Order: sequence, then C-alpha cells, then structure tokens
Amino acid sequence: MNTEAYRQLDREHHLHPFTDFKALGEEGSRIVTHAKGVYIHDSEGHRILDAMAGLWCVNLGYGREELVEAATVQLRELPYYNNFFKSTHPPAVKLAEALCRLAPSHMNRVFFTGSGSEANDTVLRMVRRYWTLEGKPDKQWVIARENSYHGSTVAGMSLGGMAPMHAQGGPTVPKIAHVRQPYWFGEGRLGEGGDGEERRFGPEAFGRECAAALEAKIQELGEENVAAFIAEPLQGAGGAIIPPASYWPAVKEVLARYNVLLVMDEVICGFGRLGEWFGSVYYDLEPDLMSIAKGLSSGYLPIGGVLVGDRVAETLIERGGEFVHGFTYSGHPVCAAVALKNLELMQAEGIVERVREDIGPYLFERWTTLAEHPLVGEARSLGLVGALELVADKTHGKRFAKDLAVGNLCRDISFDLGLVMRSVGDTMIISPPLVITRAEIDELVRLAGAALDETARRLAAREQA
Ligand code: PMP
Repeated sequence: MNTEAYRQLDREHHLHPFTDFKALGEEGSRIVTHAKGVYIHDSEGHRILDAMAGLWCVNLGYGREELVEAATVQLRELPYYNNFFKSTHPPAVKLAEALCRLAPSHMNRVFFTGSGSEANDTVLRMVRRYWTLEGKPDKQWVIARENSYHGSTVAGMSLGGMAPMHAQGGPTVPKIAHVRQPYWFGEGRLGEGGDGEERRFGPEAFGRECAAALEAKIQELGEENVAAFIAEPLQGAGGAIIPPASYWPAVKEVLARYNVLLVMDEVICGFGRLGEWFGSVYYDLEPDLMSIAKGLSSGYLPIGGVLVGDRVAETLIERGGEFVHGFTYSGHPVCAAVALKNLELMQAEGIVERVREDIGPYLFERWTTLAEHPLVGEARSLGLVGALELVADKTHGKRFAKDLAVGNLCRDISFDLGLVMRSVGDTMIISPPLVITRAEIDELVRLAGAALDETARRLAAREQA
C-alpha cells in the first residue's frame, strides 16, 4: 500500500486520540513506518529525530533486539494468563520484585494495570478504600492540581486538571478538587492568566504560594474529608513545568501537618527521566503511592501499575478482604517480561546515572542556549525534559494572541525540518529517549533553532501580508 492509500483508509476508518477528526481528515496523517535509535521514519522517506520518545515513553530508544527477544520467548512460553483467582506467573512475580527493589525502601508492593490511566483509576479506588478500612469513610476528597494530566479514563481525566477535558463528556467523578499549579513562567512571572503583568516577587515565593494553596484547600474541605494529594513530580503534558525549588519542600511541610496521603504520578518521571529512578527521589519525597507506566517497558508493550507503600499496603492486606478491582491485562505476562528486560538493560547500561551525570547536564547546557532566540521567553530543562516558552515580546515575556496558534505552527515546521517537538499552547516541549547521544542533542538543538527561525520568518510574513 502506498502513502495515499494508507491516508485514505485512515481518514475513512480511524478516529485518532486527542484529535480534531475533521481537520485531520482534510490534512491527512503522517504514516510512521519504522524506527531505530532516536529516529522515526515515515512512508515518504523522511527520517525524523523523535525528541518526544513517542509519548515520553521510548526511554531505551527504538529497535532494541533484547526487548523483542524477551517478548518472543514469553509469547511462546505463556502468551497470556491472568493473576486473578489465586494464580500468578513468573514474569509478574519477577517484575514485582524488581520494581520494589528499585522503588524507595518503604514501597514493597505493586498492583499492575495496563496503562497510566488505569493506574490512576486504581489509585483513586485504593486511597478511598484505605481510609474506609481505617474507619474514616468520610476521607474521600482527593486534591489534584490545575493543568495536571493523570489520564483519559473518566477517573484519570477527573483527577487531571485539564479544563478542556472536563468540558467534554459529562460530569467528572465527585469529590476531586484542584489547586493552583507551580507554573512560574505562565502564572507567576506573567501574573494570573499570563496577562503579561510582572509579579513583584520571584519564583521561590511563588512556589511557596502554590504550596499554601494546597494547605488552604485542605482546610476548606476539612482534613477529616481529605484522602490524598496527587501530583506529577514535574508536570509533563501541562507543558514540562518544572516547579520552583521552594515548591516541593513547602508541600512536604504542609503534608506533614495533616493526615493526608501523598500520591506521586510517576508515569512520565519514573524510570530515569529526571536522572533518578523516580521523580519522587529527585525531589526527596516519600509518597504513599506512585503511579507508573510508559518508561516501565520503554513503551514497547502497554503496562502500568501502582507502587504501594507499606502504610497503605498493610491496611489493605490486614483488614481489607477482597479488593474488588483489577484488569484482564493486570500483569500481562508478555508485557511484564518486556518490562523486566527493560529494567535489566537500564541497570546494566547505567541509563539513570547517565541522565543524571552526563546527558541531562549536556542537554541543559545546549538547550538553554535557545533562550537567546528572539521568540523565546524562557528555555528550561531538567534531566531529559525540556521546554521553550514562545513569546511575542521577549522583554516583558508577553504571549502571542491565542488565535495565532504559534506553538502549533512551530511544531508543524519542526516536524517538516525533521524534529518531533510537541506544543502545549505556545510552550514547545521535548522528552527525548534516554539513550540520546551528545551528537544527537546537538542536532536536536540545531533543528529546534531552525524551527524557531522559520516560525519567526512566517510570523513576520503574515504581519506584512
Ligand atoms: N499520568 C501522566 C503523568 C501521564 O503523562 C500520562 C500519559 N501521558 C498518564 C498518566 C496516562 O497514561 P496512559 O496514556 O498510559 O493511560
């Protein structure tokens, strides 16, 4: 089949995730056919540097034969069996043990799911169940943050703070509240709603202000009604938002004053992205639960889970009876075998240390040179996550008008130049495979710079027209 034939059938039969179906139908899809290392290839012969690692997940890069082999062996041995009804199988057991060894020492149990969304659904049911078993059935409220992403199932999107998602598909799950996000550039420096008005105080005071908002919400709802606070170590889909250094220590102080569980959504930050096995370790947090997915299998097969700390696990085990929750693919043997091999390779190749000591700092050094570009109001990175804030007025950090869709323009230009960067509004984000080399980072930064130049040129041409 040729490109046009694929496009036509895609248009006729395939509804894509997070997509304006009509607009895509008119434009047509890019057909990605194969991939190797940090590059994807399309049906028209383009080679494109995938600076998003798929969807923040292909941590070991594409084309790892060891993962193919692990899947093949397991498919032959036992392609499927479940973990219901008193059964288990070697891949699930081995993966559970390996994960708990890598997790902080107080986390010794894992509940498997098929995805990050399912992991957060599990979290919601688990924390409410925990408090009921503790004799506090009123502790039902979960506090999350505006502009956070926790998945696309009904519970996942309810926990998430994405206003456009809440606006579609009916009421959200009850008893979930949202507090402000520690987004210094967008809501601190640019003021409420990013209106361009400079704040008098700096990022650290802003970080503490956001933590104070959490405390105010706990008090408003009443501690006796609050089950948990859930957050990503750094917000990924919201725009690669790195919190001010003051934020997590201040949140820790708040949580120490209240009997509220901490849930960290490690779906993006887990497995090395910030130069530690978990973002919680990077930020020195001791979560009660952690949601995981994506990098767990480097995205080769779908698998997720919830790592459960001893405090919650002991109650669920000792007092719980049956936990009436689980998925057909919880701990799927082939996915588990691939995840286990993925973790083994990460350890053998020192991937996490490499992000922390070498390639993360190198990305920072190179990526932040883009801050000099006239379109860039801020360039930031941590580990192997980076963002560029595109602005109309560099001196005052003023945004472009929304209807110009400058971020999307830059993303499309970037793709055409051979680089996958994603746009969140006018924030350009990257999250490359953890195996990316220095030379590939040089290429990434060069292509991002070229995409910025071309974006500026087109904006100027539009203004003249
Ligand atoms: N949590 C976070 C932080 C995520 O980034 C994502 C996916 N982007 C999810 C949860 C949902 O994971 P999935 O798409 O595997 O359901």
